Amino acid sequence: MTDAQSAETVAVPSETLPPLAKTRVQAPGAVGVHISGVGCRATASISPDRVWIGSLTPGDVEPVVDSIVNAVLTVERHPKFVVVGTPGHVNGDLGTVTAAANLGQGWRGTVALAELLRSRLDCEVELCNDAEAALEGERRRGALVACNDGALITLSHGVGVALLHDGIQQPTELGHSVSQFGGPECRGRPHRGCYESYLGGWALPIRYRERHPEFHGAMAREIPDDHDFWTECGRRLGDLIVGLCLLGQPLEAISFIGSVAQARHQYLLPGVRARVDEEAALLATRPRSLRITPLGEDVSVLGAFLMARDLLHPFLAA
Ligand SMILES: [Zn+2]
Repeated sequence: MTDAQSAETVAVPSETLPPLAKTRVQAPGAVGVHISGVGCRATASISPDRVWIGSLTPGDVEPVVDSIVNAVLTVERHPKFVVVGTPGHVNGDLGTVTAAANLGQGWRGTVALAELLRSRLDCEVELCNDAEAALEGERRRGALVACNDGALITLSHGVGVALLHDGIQQPTELGHSVSQFGGPECRGRPHRGCYESYLGGWALPIRYRERHPEFHGAMAREIPDDHDFWTECGRRLGDLIVGLCLLGQPLEAISFIGSVAQARHQYLLPGVRARVDEEAALLATRPRSLRITPLGEDVSVLGAFLMARDLLHPFLAA
């Protein structure tokens, strides 16, 4: 289900929630939020079934701030520490986000989002990049649990690659590394043939139309379940992973998130595995696990919540 499709409130009013078990780790006041170009998610709990999902209309700053405030107060009437995972470049020290163009025209420059939210919510607010929040969610509750060296690959509008090296997060721009010189044009970058130009959500309909001129869809979700096309995409993704392995960094596990990965993993992952297996003899290490996230579309909001909980209650268990 996409964010747009699921833009209904699914929150359960707190007074109707079942009593918390004594063994459950409580973190009153901690709230995680994830905003994107199509939706807003918020939670005050680690349970995926308590994630609130709302719509978010890209545009000016103020309506988006309104949506975030509404989301926070829906899941926690008395917030104490809020962490917001957002697209764009985040300066955590200044509490600003820059070039979050997915959120609308008003977000192309620098927005002091943390201060705007602090003044409305009257509590601590920190920002993090959405990929950072997703990696935190995957490490703590997802497919990278107990993994010190791994990678998180996001397949949605673009292609994102975040590495985990010796337990330390390393965001990268490897989604824009060149897969094929002279390949198709990238969008917004001065190069051709990068992985995103083949596998990004914006690029997939263009690539599909090159093979099937009768296709007129503009969205990746409109592409049929064409086994040959998606398997070839999986093999291209396998090239990216082989490249990561050949960098010499140990990779115990690789996790895939994002709307394209969620919707097509049954075709993509066999292609990835076949491609990686072809190179296995050449590799010093081969990931033991290549998996789709078990956290679905909630991975970033759960990661943001865990970060908020850590900041508010530093001695709680994971
Ligand atoms: Zn590119």
